[in-house]
Amino acid sequence: MLRSIPPRISSRSLILPSSSIRSFTSLRSFRCFNTSPNNKSTLTKDYSQPIVPKVDITKPKNDYLKDYKLSELFSYFCIGLVTLNKPILNLCIKIFPFVPMPIIKALVYKVYCGGETMKDLFKVSDRLQSRGINNMMLSLTIEAAEGNEVVDPEYIIEETNKSINEFLIPNTIEKIKNSQDINSIPPSYVALKPTGFSHNAAKILRDYQTDKEFDVLVDRISKIIKTINDANISLQKQYPQRIAPIVVGVIDAEKHDLQNGVYELQRRLYKQFNKVDQPVSVVGTLQMYLAESGKLLTLEENLAKEGNYRLGLKLVRGAYIHSEADRSVIHKTKQDTDVNYNQGITYCIDNILKQEKSESTVGHLVIASHNSESLNLATDLINNQQSTNKNNIVLGQLFGMADNITYDLIKDKNVKNVIKYVPWGPPVETKAYLLRRLEENGDAVKNDTGLNLIKDVLTTVWKRIF
Ligand SMILES: Cc1cc2nc3c(=O)[nH]c(=O)nc-3n(C[C@H](O)[C@H](O)[C@H](O)COP(=O)(O)OP(=O)(O)OC[C@H]3O[C@@H](n4cnc5c(N)ncnc54)[C@H](O)[C@@H]3O)c2cc1C
Repeated sequence: MLRSIPPRISSRSLILPSSSIRSFTSLRSFRCFNTSPNNKSTLTKDYSQPIVPKVDITKPKNDYLKDYKLSELFSYFCIGLVTLNKPILNLCIKIFPFVPMPIIKALVYKVYCGGETMKDLFKVSDRLQSRGINNMMLSLTIEAAEGNEVVDPEYIIEETNKSINEFLIPNTIEKIKNSQDINSIPPSYVALKPTGFSHNAAKILRDYQTDKEFDVLVDRISKIIKTINDANISLQKQYPQRIAPIVVGVIDAEKHDLQNGVYELQRRLYKQFNKVDQPVSVVGTLQMYLAESGKLLTLEENLAKEGNYRLGLKLVRGAYIHSEADRSVIHKTKQDTDVNYNQGITYCIDNILKQEKSESTVGHLVIASHNSESLNLATDLINNQQSTNKNNIVLGQLFGMADNITYDLIKDKNVKNVIKYVPWGPPVETKAYLLRRLEENGDAVKNDTGLNLIKDVLTTVWKRIF
């Protein structure tokens, strides 16, 4: 059994109700991401300057659509219709589960999903590369929220390992071989949803301290991270100039009441696979909309230093706001979440850039966001510093989302460290993923959202014909 409890820290301090986070952080004296008792960050350096992205007003804002196929433009037109306003979107969310899959496939599937087979994934990879996006984070969309009997963990392990060995690694190596700079290609990622690794994962994660099945769940995910780690170690010998790993396993964050179990899972994996002086093979997720997230980042950094391992972090703002049952655990306002997110990414970027290749405690960072301000902030911070370690910072967006922002970063700021999160797998499972994307749009939809998209698509088609 793997235990990641560092010396002098009792297992109780690894439970993450705020009380134990408080007791731990007050005992430590490391310089790290610091937070005040009201959960607001109190950094000596001001990380929260508002960033106004420079916008090129001479460039049409629908420029990003000009290389899209007609079938993709048709899908965006449909998405525009669905997101015309909130009442229409809410109606679509209600009827979505009853819409037959062939109709969904004809209308929007291709924009948001990578396909059903590995052959489909190679095609998506080429499509992304033609737009300047050189790698992806794969997610096998077999979902299991509260006790999903359909989940077969052994099948998920087998399919995921196959996708790593037969797609992600060869595809990345091919790109590296064809690139002028071995470090210009970001790593490939495989996203792992902890609830997919047991029939009763939600209960196991909640009761992780007492439920023996928790060790089984950790062992199952370890089988995938071991495949990744073995590959990174052997590829590092083959490509010694490469700064970032070739492939990384990413633990996705779940609902808040499951997260203590997920944090413990992440720590055990960090300890086993993110050894000091080696590339990071596993990345865990922090949801910065959680009021406790600043303290958590401090705690994770301190545990990594004490446990002599490296952190891999994916920072997200958080889930669709209405999916979190306990609103009290989330920052009070969107602005608080935004400030906390920007402080978090700035702190991690600093930590990575000021050290050499395998020395920083935060060894690898994925900035998973569609927010233009955060992405521009991160890009400017990276571009303004000289460091060989920059390749360990990667921006990630969901496939089919924020394509205009990704496009602007690539064209205006020559961004190469960008990947897309691509779900793939059986169509029935991807339907649940698509429903979540629709729900997530609920937070963002204003009265002009869909209309603008429709106008942009029609203008693009018009220009192409005439
Ligand atoms: C590559 C990738 C991987 C991801 N993995 C995960 C994952 O593992 N787990 C997970 O939970 N999410 C994950 N997400 C994030 C998530 O699903 C959303 O895409 C993300 O939160 C949207 O925020 P944004 O940074 O794009 O910016 P914005 O659109 O600016 O922010 C929207 C987000 O802000 C937060 N928010 C909205 N209103 C409020 C409010 N009133 N008060 C406080 N906060 C508010 C919510 O989290 C909301 O989703 C991932 C996203 C990407 C791109």
